[in-house]
Amino acid sequence: MFEPFYEVVFNVSKNITENKTALGRPVIGVMPAFFPMELIDAAGGYPVQLWGNNLSLGKSDAYLQAFSCSVARSVLELELIEGARMVEGYAFTSICDTLINLRELYRRLFPKPTVELSIPITRTDEARRIYLKSVIASVISGLEDITGTKVTSESLTKASSLHARTRELQRQLYYIRAEKSGLIKNYDFYVTIKAGFFLPRSVYNQMLEDLLEKLDKLPQPKGKRTKIVLSGMVFDPIEIYKIFDDLNIDIVDDDFANGWRTVSKGPLEVADIVEGVTSYVFNPAPCCCLYNPDNDRHPYLVDKAKKAGAEGVLFWYIKFCEPDAFDRPQLIQRLKDEGIPASFFDVELSMTNFDAIKTRIDAFSEMIKG
Ligand code: SF4
Repeated sequence: MFEPFYEVVFNVSKNITENKTALGRPVIGVMPAFFPMELIDAAGGYPVQLWGNNLSLGKSDAYLQAFSCSVARSVLELELIEGARMVEGYAFTSICDTLINLRELYRRLFPKPTVELSIPITRTDEARRIYLKSVIASVISGLEDITGTKVTSESLTKASSLHARTRELQRQLYYIRAEKSGLIKNYDFYVTIKAGFFLPRSVYNQMLEDLLEKLDKLPQPKGKRTKIVLSGMVFDPIEIYKIFDDLNIDIVDDDFANGWRTVSKGPLEVADIVEGVTSYVFNPAPCCCLYNPDNDRHPYLVDKAKKAGAEGVLFWYIKFCEPDAFDRPQLIQRLKDEGIPASFFDVELSMTNFDAIKTRIDAFSEMIKG
């Protein structure tokens, strides 16, 4: 059932190159997080999402400190070793200092054009809209320069509908996972979501539809299993899901920036694109990288864990990710105050030995079981 998704995730370059040829569109690499990829599609581009990779780091050490996160270091490494030849331009957001600086590095080091969706740190919707008005105009004209195609209201509407459909199908997958806990292996689930980073929407949507049809007919497996929720920025390295599978732990929901925080987003409203992008970026899930005091992560996460029937919450921490680190101690305390066990482990995307993580997950599972 999941083989087509595996084929994509384990042959990323080949798949992107083939799709690029078939579409005849320039590939735009999308850096984390929350860049509305609808804009790229509407401008005639082919967006692929770069949430880091498992390359061992070498050349990037000359430009980024060892205490930068492995997401930023690994995407830079990919460009430096010329592993992203098929990517013709990059779209950044300003969700953290590391990414803001990374864009400046790209501008200085590489001839490939970049655009940046600078996200405002301000409280009201009105202030956000005022700020984003000029930002979005500049992003759209930058994308049009890369692709040579003008964005029109028709192309925006079509792209919005395609991407909204993707997220709707992904949400259905999330609901099946929660309702029929144990039916989808954790590893299969995240491979399926990850495949969507690299495929054109129409191809990925069809694959998801086929999968959902098959899953719909299957019953929930019998037997008691431990249920948990994960929270973090990036759900890699995916090898870790095999540990959860081996220990009979079901991830019944998540709060990943490249998981539910993105999947939960509604359609990009294009009638007023400034209004639409403002709403898209800041809603509905809160994120440690978005200043939005009206959408507090503490009650949100407690509610998420309770609704999912989770017996605990694990924080999947990408080492040196400052925004995520700042939030974590208070979030863990709040969950514990509500009687929900919570803990964390830290990862680097290039890691290959998961023994220590296995020990931590096992210990957490034992603690939950009491
Ligand atoms: S993992 Fe954290 S520090 Fe790294 S790019 Fe993402 S938000 Fe920024």
